[in-house]
Amino acid sequence: MMDALAAPTVGVDTHCPYCALQCGMTVAPDGDHWTVTARDFPTNKGGLCRKGWTSAELLSAPDRLTTPLVRDRKGEKLRPASWDEALDRIADAFREIQLAHGRDAVGVFGGGGLTNEKAYLLGKFARVCLGTANIDYNGRFCMASAAAGGLRAFGLDRGLPFPLEDIPGAEAILIEGSNPAETMPPIMQYFEEQRRRGGKLIVVDPRKTPTARIADLHLSITPGTDAALANGLLHIAIRDGLIDRPFIEARTSGFEAARRIAASWWPDRAERVTGVPAHQLHQAAHILGKAATAIILSGRGPEQQSRGVDNVLAFINLALALGKVGRPHCGWGCLTGQGNGQGGREHGQKADQLPGYRKIDNPADRRDVAAVWDMAPDMLPGPGLSAVELSAALGGPVKGLLLMASNLVVSAPNANTVAAQLGKLDMLVVADFFLSETAALADVVLPITQWAEEEGTMTNLEGRVLLRRRVKPPPEGVRSDAAVLSGLAARLGTQSAIPAEPSVVAEEFRRASSGGPADYRGATWERIAEADGLFWPCPTTDHPGTPRLFLDRFATSDGRARFHPVDHHGPAEPTDAEFPMILTTGRLLVHYQSGAQTRRIASLTEAEPSPFVEIHPDTASAMKIGDGALARLTTRRGTAVMQARHSRDIRRDTLFVPFHWVGANLLTNAALDPVSRIPEFKVCSVRIEPSSATPAL
Ligand code: SF4
Repeated sequence: MMDALAAPTVGVDTHCPYCALQCGMTVAPDGDHWTVTARDFPTNKGGLCRKGWTSAELLSAPDRLTTPLVRDRKGEKLRPASWDEALDRIADAFREIQLAHGRDAVGVFGGGGLTNEKAYLLGKFARVCLGTANIDYNGRFCMASAAAGGLRAFGLDRGLPFPLEDIPGAEAILIEGSNPAETMPPIMQYFEEQRRRGGKLIVVDPRKTPTARIADLHLSITPGTDAALANGLLHIAIRDGLIDRPFIEARTSGFEAARRIAASWWPDRAERVTGVPAHQLHQAAHILGKAATAIILSGRGPEQQSRGVDNVLAFINLALALGKVGRPHCGWGCLTGQGNGQGGREHGQKADQLPGYRKIDNPADRRDVAAVWDMAPDMLPGPGLSAVELSAALGGPVKGLLLMASNLVVSAPNANTVAAQLGKLDMLVVADFFLSETAALADVVLPITQWAEEEGTMTNLEGRVLLRRRVKPPPEGVRSDAAVLSGLAARLGTQSAIPAEPSVVAEEFRRASSGGPADYRGATWERIAEADGLFWPCPTTDHPGTPRLFLDRFATSDGRARFHPVDHHGPAEPTDAEFPMILTTGRLLVHYQSGAQTRRIASLTEAEPSPFVEIHPDTASAMKIGDGALARLTTRRGTAVMQARHSRDIRRDTLFVPFHWVGANLLTNAALDPVSRIPEFKVCSVRIEPSSATPAL
């Protein structure tokens, strides 16, 4: 490990701060700045995208926060303060709130960008130091439906249950609602190699994205009809004898109930509901069914819906019926988005979870974790509010909030309401390295370290645990998240619960995961660094890790995967005369998540400076909205004005808005999936009209 004060004179091998591909890069000093070089890591094989190439610019950003800020009264400006004053204020306020309103009146909100160790510490801080049940994180907005679907069908959730290197060997691949050519471009090497070897690629998306453009078959689906599409494909596969009966009998249960539902999704009906021509459904089912090996990959398109788990399960049903799971170069998986979206959901910052992917309402799991935390199991709080429900409780039953690594004002659905509720809190604490839109509303802002300023482990989309090395010391005045939690714990009388020394935290974290489904016990930093990462579960220090899950059995009680009888229900908010169009949201090539980081990089903001609405020219012409003209979008939640961008790549009934600026989530619907509690970002009804008002930024 690097000396605390030393700055390196040569490059350090580390990983990109952004998405779940976690590309390998080398960061080296260059005068007052830092340069990035791509390195040959198994996920990116020497490739990087524009976000990765420019990521080190933020290490010397002029608007970096380097001192705590406090607000003396609501309505007054933030002013600089010492660390002692800031931490004393937070501890005093949280103590007062909890005395008056109970433990759960203080909430904690984390992020999928936190390292495993930080996610673990944040969960422990909430449950042990604050004693609150109310902790959740922004991963709830991303992978929650895929996680819930994977758990129900396979008994275990690991985004990809196989390594990326299995992709080129698959004869057929279906990507459902994901656009990796823009969100994680280096991964396209795997799909390009698959196609070079003669494999077929099918992409399901309401837009002809750069990913869909290279596909053999693009299914331009009506947003919100994914379960209908999957059932339509299953119907054809059963009818045409493409399913794998021996696999179904030997390794699954529940097929008959799923078959009965698929029986009613004859191709004409599926075409009517999904908008995908029946002949294309036939083609897709036959490509997948006739291939010896096939992979189905899910993205946020089907998942971020009020029936997101059903959508996931419908595609898992298809994969199971075709016998394309639990074999090399086969499987169903989810293309995780956030850098540590996978690890972040395994180690205790989710409302219903304890470290090691244990369940907070399971007595044995509570006993295991309480033993590591040296407390009685009944002292551990139970399940708390999920992200959107926690947002709704702000200013009501929840009166104080500690927020780390998240920019809720931009990333939460129905963002107008969220901003208003944050304003009603008695104490809002935001730990961040820039004054994000959310930090600007806080009562106390804590300046914390960036990705390259401390060490920790991340778990990428494959379940590969990797070491993100420190490149440089943090600027003076900045503290690590662990030091922040440790300082608060000391003031709350629970100092021993939160060790500040990284190696002590890492050891305790591995011990806490030991014996759980996501077992990291054997993934020491030394082993990870030597082996280019280790796949969990890795229960002992001589265990090689587990790149491929489910080869012999699934992680259910009887070892069989489960079919689920899931039908199409449609979105929570169908179109009508007042709001006749469908709104969907997503990411762009040059920006990441809420844009709090990438919007600060000049070359990226030059490429995409502001939000826009993508609209089909025929629709735009009917609405008299020119290419580049301002358009007003209105939903039942709010209005946003932005430039119209004409494109023949989008369906005529659909509008697309990128979510890296405030505009998109002023419009989106917070309707929740009943199981995953994910909000319905991907489909709501909207009206569009010409506008001359000031655009949203
Ligand atoms: Fe790689 Fe993702 Fe970073 Fe791009 S943003 S360089 S794809 S990790």
